[in-house]
Amino acid sequence: MDGCIFCKIAAGEIPSATVYEDEDLRVIADISPANLGHLLIIPKEHAADLTELPAETACKVMLTAKRVVAAMKKGLCPDGVNVLQNNGEAAGQTVMHYHMHIIPRYRGDQVKIGWEPMQGQPEAVAGAAEKVKKALEETDERP
Ligand code: 5GP
Ligand code: ZN
Repeated sequence: MDGCIFCKIAAGEIPSATVYEDEDLRVIADISPANLGHLLIIPKEHAADLTELPAETACKVMLTAKRVVAAMKKGLCPDGVNVLQNNGEAAGQTVMHYHMHIIPRYRGDQVKIGWEPMQGQPEAVAGAAEKVKKALEETDERP
Protein backbone atom coordinates (compact mmCIF):
# COMPACT_ATOMS: atom_id res chain seq x y z
CA MET A 1 0.00 0.00 0.00
CA ASP A 2 1.33 3.44 -0.98
CA GLY A 3 2.92 5.27 1.92
CA CYS A 4 2.99 2.25 4.25
CA ILE A 5 6.42 1.91 5.84
CA PHE A 6 6.02 -1.80 6.65
CA CYS A 7 5.02 -2.55 3.03
CA LYS A 8 8.32 -0.94 2.01
CA ILE A 9 10.35 -2.73 4.70
CA ALA A 10 8.71 -6.10 3.93
CA ALA A 11 9.44 -5.61 0.20
CA GLY A 12 13.07 -4.74 0.95
CA GLU A 13 12.68 -1.19 -0.42
CA ILE A 14 13.74 0.16 3.00
CA PRO A 15 16.66 -1.71 4.59
CA SER A 16 16.08 -3.57 7.85
CA ALA A 17 17.99 -6.00 10.08
CA THR A 18 16.33 -9.11 8.62
CA VAL A 19 16.62 -12.45 10.40
CA TYR A 20 14.34 -14.38 8.01
CA GLU A 21 12.54 -13.79 4.72
CA ASP A 22 10.41 -15.87 2.38
CA GLU A 23 7.81 -15.18 -0.32
CA ASP A 24 5.11 -14.24 2.23
CA LEU A 25 6.83 -12.48 5.11
CA ARG A 26 9.93 -10.88 6.59
CA VAL A 27 11.17 -11.08 10.19
CA ILE A 28 13.12 -7.99 11.29
CA ALA A 29 14.62 -6.40 14.38
CA ASP A 30 12.37 -3.75 15.92
CA ILE A 31 14.08 -0.37 15.55
CA SER A 32 13.09 0.70 19.10
CA PRO A 33 13.13 -2.62 20.94
CA ALA A 34 11.48 -3.34 24.28
CA ASN A 35 14.48 -5.61 24.92
CA LEU A 36 17.51 -6.51 22.80
CA GLY A 37 16.41 -9.17 20.33
CA HIS A 38 12.85 -7.81 19.93
CA LEU A 39 11.66 -8.98 16.49
CA LEU A 40 8.69 -8.23 14.24
CA ILE A 41 7.06 -10.68 11.82
CA ILE A 42 5.70 -8.63 8.91
CA PRO A 43 3.58 -10.16 6.11
CA LYS A 44 4.49 -8.82 2.66
CA GLU A 45 0.88 -8.31 1.62
CA HIS A 46 -0.68 -5.26 3.26
CA ALA A 47 -3.34 -5.91 5.89
CA ALA A 48 -4.10 -3.27 8.51
CA ASP A 49 -4.77 -5.71 11.33
CA LEU A 50 -5.72 -9.28 12.23
CA THR A 51 -9.26 -8.95 10.86
CA GLU A 52 -7.87 -8.05 7.42
CA LEU A 53 -5.20 -10.75 7.39
CA PRO A 54 -5.96 -13.67 5.02
CA ALA A 55 -6.39 -16.96 6.92
CA GLU A 56 -3.42 -18.62 5.18
CA THR A 57 -1.17 -15.70 6.11
CA ALA A 58 -2.37 -15.83 9.71
CA CYS A 59 -1.41 -19.53 9.82
CA LYS A 60 1.98 -18.82 8.28
CA VAL A 61 2.70 -15.97 10.72
CA MET A 62 1.92 -18.23 13.70
CA LEU A 63 4.01 -21.13 12.37
CA THR A 64 6.88 -18.69 11.77
CA ALA A 65 6.46 -17.32 15.29
CA LYS A 66 6.83 -20.87 16.61
CA ARG A 67 10.11 -21.29 14.71
CA VAL A 68 11.42 -17.86 15.64
CA VAL A 69 10.65 -18.33 19.34
CA ALA A 70 12.55 -21.62 19.30
CA ALA A 71 15.50 -19.92 17.57
CA MET A 72 15.34 -16.99 20.00
CA LYS A 73 15.49 -19.40 22.93
CA LYS A 74 18.54 -21.04 21.39
CA GLY A 75 20.29 -17.82 20.33
CA LEU A 76 19.55 -15.49 23.23
CA CYS A 77 18.72 -17.85 26.13
CA PRO A 78 15.88 -15.68 27.50
CA ASP A 79 13.93 -16.75 30.59
CA GLY A 80 10.67 -16.24 28.64
CA VAL A 81 9.28 -14.81 25.39
CA ASN A 82 6.23 -12.61 24.77
CA VAL A 83 4.40 -13.09 21.46
CA LEU A 84 1.82 -10.39 20.89
CA GLN A 85 0.28 -8.06 18.40
CA ASN A 86 -1.84 -4.91 18.67
CA ASN A 87 -5.03 -4.21 16.72
CA GLY A 88 -6.10 -0.58 16.56
CA GLU A 89 -4.76 2.60 18.06
CA ALA A 90 -6.64 2.06 21.33
CA ALA A 91 -4.79 -1.26 21.71
CA GLY A 92 -1.41 0.38 21.14
CA GLN A 93 -1.00 -0.21 17.39
CA THR A 94 1.17 2.54 15.95
CA VAL A 95 1.99 1.08 12.51
CA MET A 96 -1.21 0.21 10.68
CA HIS A 97 0.23 -2.78 8.82
CA TYR A 98 -0.30 -6.06 10.70
CA HIS A 99 2.78 -7.32 12.53
CA MET A 100 3.56 -9.70 15.37
CA HIS A 101 6.02 -8.83 18.15
CA ILE A 102 8.40 -11.45 19.54
CA ILE A 103 10.09 -10.12 22.68
CA PRO A 104 12.72 -11.98 24.70
CA ARG A 105 12.22 -11.61 28.46
CA TYR A 106 14.61 -11.91 31.37
CA ARG A 107 13.77 -12.18 35.06
CA GLY A 108 13.81 -8.69 36.54
CA ASP A 109 13.88 -6.87 33.18
CA GLN A 110 12.15 -3.50 32.82
CA VAL A 111 9.73 -4.42 30.00
CA LYS A 112 6.14 -3.45 30.79
CA ILE A 113 3.36 -5.53 29.24
CA GLY A 114 0.20 -6.01 31.23
CA TRP A 115 -2.95 -4.72 32.83
CA GLU A 116 -4.63 -4.26 36.18
CA PRO A 117 -7.10 -7.13 36.63
CA MET A 118 -10.76 -6.07 37.16
CA GLN A 119 -12.21 -7.58 40.33
CA GLY A 120 -15.67 -8.70 41.39
CA GLN A 121 -17.63 -8.30 38.17
CA PRO A 122 -18.75 -11.86 37.30
CA GLU A 123 -22.01 -10.76 35.66
CA ALA A 124 -20.27 -8.17 33.51
CA VAL A 125 -17.61 -10.76 32.56
CA ALA A 126 -20.30 -13.27 31.52
CA GLY A 127 -22.29 -10.55 29.70
CA ALA A 128 -19.31 -9.45 27.60
CA ALA A 129 -18.45 -13.08 26.76
CA GLU A 130 -22.08 -13.69 25.75
CA LYS A 131 -22.00 -10.77 23.28
CA VAL A 132 -18.90 -12.20 21.57
CA LYS A 133 -20.40 -15.72 21.59
CA LYS A 134 -23.54 -14.41 19.86
CA ALA A 135 -21.51 -12.53 17.26
CA LEU A 136 -19.42 -15.67 16.62
CA GLU A 137 -22.56 -17.76 16.13
CA GLU A 138 -23.73 -15.26 13.51
CA THR A 139 -20.74 -16.06 11.31
CA ASP A 140 -20.16 -19.45 9.72
CA GLU A 141 -16.44 -18.92 9.28
CA ARG A 142 -14.46 -21.60 11.05
CA PRO A 143 -10.72 -22.02 11.09
P1 5GP B 1 2.88 -1.41 17.25
O1 5GP B 1 2.90 -0.32 18.31
O2 5GP B 1 2.20 -0.90 15.99
O3 5GP B 1 2.34 -2.72 17.71
O4 5GP B 1 4.39 -1.69 16.92
C1 5GP B 1 5.11 -0.97 15.97
C2 5GP B 1 6.56 -1.33 16.17
O5 5GP B 1 7.27 -1.03 15.00
C3 5GP B 1 7.22 -0.54 17.31
O6 5GP B 1 7.77 -1.45 18.27
C4 5GP B 1 8.31 0.28 16.61
O7 5GP B 1 9.49 0.41 17.35
C5 5GP B 1 8.52 -0.50 15.32
N1 5GP B 1 8.91 0.32 14.18
C6 5GP B 1 8.32 1.47 13.77
N2 5GP B 1 8.93 1.94 12.66
C7 5GP B 1 9.92 1.06 12.37
C8 5GP B 1 10.92 1.02 11.33
O8 5GP B 1 11.01 1.89 10.46
N3 5GP B 1 11.76 -0.04 11.34
C9 5GP B 1 11.69 -1.01 12.31
N4 5GP B 1 12.60 -2.00 12.22
N5 5GP B 1 10.79 -1.01 13.29
C10 5GP B 1 9.91 0.03 13.33
ZN1 ZN C 1 1.51 -2.00 4.49
